[in-house]
This record gives sequence, C-alpha cells and structure tokens, in this order.
Amino acid sequence: MTDKEIFYEMLWDCAQCQTTGLLGDTHRHCPTCGSAQDPKKRYFPQPGHEKQAKDHQFVGTDWSCAYCTSPNSAAAAHCTNCGAGQDGSKPVALVIDDAVVSAPAPAATSAAQPSRHAGRWRWIVGAVLLVLIVLGVMFNSTKDTVATIEQRSWEREIQVEQLSRVAEAAWCDSMPGDAYAVTRSREQRTTKRIENGQDCHDERTDKGDGTFTKRQVCVPRYREEPVYDDRCHFQVNRWRTQRTFKASNENSPMPVWPSVALLGAQGAIGPNVLGAQRAGPRLEKYTVKLASGGKSWSCDVPEALWKQLNEGTLTPVKIRMTGGADCSSLGRE
Ligand SMILES: [Zn+2]
Ligand SMILES: [Zn+2]
Repeated sequence: MTDKEIFYEMLWDCAQCQTTGLLGDTHRHCPTCGSAQDPKKRYFPQPGHEKQAKDHQFVGTDWSCAYCTSPNSAAAAHCTNCGAGQDGSKPVALVIDDAVVSAPAPAATSAAQPSRHAGRWRWIVGAVLLVLIVLGVMFNSTKDTVATIEQRSWEREIQVEQLSRVAEAAWCDSMPGDAYAVTRSREQRTTKRIENGQDCHDERTDKGDGTFTKRQVCVPRYREEPVYDDRCHFQVNRWRTQRTFKASNENSPMPVWPSVALLGAQGAIGPNVLGAQRAGPRLEKYTVKLASGGKSWSCDVPEALWKQLNEGTLTPVKIRMTGGADCSSLGRE
C-alpha cells in the first residue's frame, strides 16, 4: 500500500523575496533568493493544479529546527540550514486542506455554539422555573371564605344522530368493509429514495515533509421517486349528529332530560336504514354562582353536590390568592 502511494508537492511562498508557488518537496530553499523554506507558509495547490513529487520517499514529518525554524527531513540528523542538531526541535505543524474541510465546518461551529451559550440558557430556564414555582404557590395558596349561593343553573342536552351517506376516500388497502359506490384512481402515496450515482471528492492530507497525498471519498447521491397506489373514493353510512335537543333551568327548576323526537323510531324507517335516527351522546352541566364581599364566582359542580347547594344559603369556599374560587373545595368540610 505505502509504496504505491502517490505524493504531490505542497506549495509555499518565500517571505524574503515574495516568490509564490514554490514547490514543497523540490524547493527546500527558495530558488530565487536562497532562503530556507518556512513550513508555516505551506499550502495546498488549487484542485486540478497538483504536481506529483517525483521519486519521493516518505520518511516522516519534517522537524522544525529549534534555532532557525528551517524544516528538515526526518532522515536528517542536523539542520541543513544552520547545522544544529535535533535537540529541542518539534515536528512541523500540518496544514488542513480548506477545500475539503469547508463542508463539515458549519456543523462543527453550530455544535460548538450551544455550549458557548449553555450558561445563559441555563440561567433563563432557571428564572422561568422560579417564576412558575412562585405562580404555582400563589395559585395554590387559598383563604377560607363563606359565600352566598346567589343562583343555580343547569343545562342538559341530547344529540340526535342520523344514519347518513358520507363520501370518503382512503387507500384501497384500508377501505372500510361497508363501503359502496367505489371508484378508484392512481395517486401518489409516498416517495422512495433511489441511489443515483455518487458524489466524490479528493481528501488531501499534508504529510508534513512538503508533500501531500490524495484519497478519493465518495458518498451515494439519491433522487426521490413518487410511489403510486390505488386510492378509493366511496360512500359509507355513518351516524352523524343531526340536531341537538336542549333543556335548562329556564324549562324546569330541577334537571330533566329534554324530550327527543326520533325519525325512524316509530317504524316509519327501519333501524339501520339511511335516514334512521337515534339518541346519541348526552351532556350535562350544573353551575352555582357564589358571592361574597362584593365579588362573585361561578363554579361547575357534580349534580349531587348541586342539589345540596340551595339558593340563598351560605357555603364555605376557598378563594385563591389570585382571586379565583377553588371550586373543588365546595361541599368539603
Ligand atoms: Zn526567496
Ligand atoms: Zn537550523
């Protein structure tokens, strides 16, 4: 593997005479002014303008001379520029290829940002929690009061449902069993991802000795393709709320259910034939209006309690610090 690896010339610019585009492997010294190569000035060539380093033998990352900062081959025992030994020297810093690294960089910065702001966020979350706790304590703290029951009211309703013809649509594999008058059409149900070639780029690695190597990295590319299926349009008979019968304290002081008149119940229409009616869901609500010290509150209570709370009598009730009545305290001793 290693002996088949191809090495390419890094480039560097001479800081002494401003010559640019010098070769990292071939030009260990500037061919114009003779200055030693500065490894900090190395950079990758433009993609497509890469030059192979001929007969290059990789022996390791260059070491930077502790005295004159010249880069020296790992094979050299002494600095070719000033003759100093390797004592105190460090390997040269490697260059990161911007052309390749630019893509994953935004992900790295966005991942780093939350941690930078984490302290502030923790503070805000803490403050919000504190406010909620204070509000919770205020809302839950109550004081005992005796209130007059000023008014009682009630509401009851019965919904009448009618077996109706309803137009619906569903994917044919999940159509209800009682569907009729079915028509089918082809419609897009979902999409699927299909591999459609690859996106490849070169990943370039600085070897630290004036050369770099390349490796092709490929990721599959996808395209979306619609997936069609049978869509069924059909009719079904379903119970639908047709009207609502209501009764309230305006009809009777004590709660009664409203009387309902059903079509089809008298045998004019069969029980499960289109147009037949039935009594559906029932709703009931019992309310008392309380007053004390110029203030008043309204509470919905269970029917049994409502019957005990007579108009004009006094009842103990807890009033919250926020001003509302704790309706669940009604009827409790
Ligand atoms: Zn030069
Ligand atoms: Zn040196």
